[in-house]
Amino acid sequence: MNQELPEDLKRCVAFHGHLCPGLIYGYRVAKEAVQRLGVDRSQDEEVVAISENDTCAVDALQVLLGTTAGKGNLIIKNYGKNAFTVLNRSDTRAFRFSRKDYYRYDGENQDEFHGLEAAVASGTATQEQQTRQRLLKSLDLISKPFDEVFHTKEVKLPEPPYAPLAPSVACTKCGEMTMSTRMIETENGTRLCIPCAEEEGEEGSTRT
Ligand SMILES: [Zn+2]
Ligand SMILES: [Zn+2]
Repeated sequence: MNQELPEDLKRCVAFHGHLCPGLIYGYRVAKEAVQRLGVDRSQDEEVVAISENDTCAVDALQVLLGTTAGKGNLIIKNYGKNAFTVLNRSDTRAFRFSRKDYYRYDGENQDEFHGLEAAVASGTATQEQQTRQRLLKSLDLISKPFDEVFHTKEVKLPEPPYAPLAPSVACTKCGEMTMSTRMIETENGTRLCIPCAEEEGEEGSTRT
């Protein structure tokens, strides 16, 4: 089945580990963003993605947009929404893509799909049936017009900061080198890493 998939989607599947509807949502959004913003895979940090969920979709953004957790140009605000904002730093344009409506299967295997869906919903689906259901849904999601699946809205955004590069300092308690911006200052002026501060009951202190 995989050989029928577009080359760029195969790369997403290879990275993510399986083909699933969530990955397709991210794939569709990433492709649309590339087209609208005229950007390519982000070599540095000119493209930024803000994902309002932490689902499989995020992996397609990482592969196709180069917005990755490690570079700091992938921001996850987990509101549990199938919505994504992609922006281009060089022109400060941004688009927010949010999923429309409930999912409806429009593919050719109506009876099979609804049978599988019922089995999945009732918790009786075998591993094989689950995989088949995900495949049918994924292929259907690939073939739908983008505008049927997502709302697109141009939004103005302030630029999020670059990945912070702060010097590391040793935690007063455990001695481990810790990024200074992630440390907590205690009442007596010492600086602790977060786990040590939590042990000391310093959660209420201001994070500097
Ligand atoms: Zn997945
Ligand atoms: Zn510590």
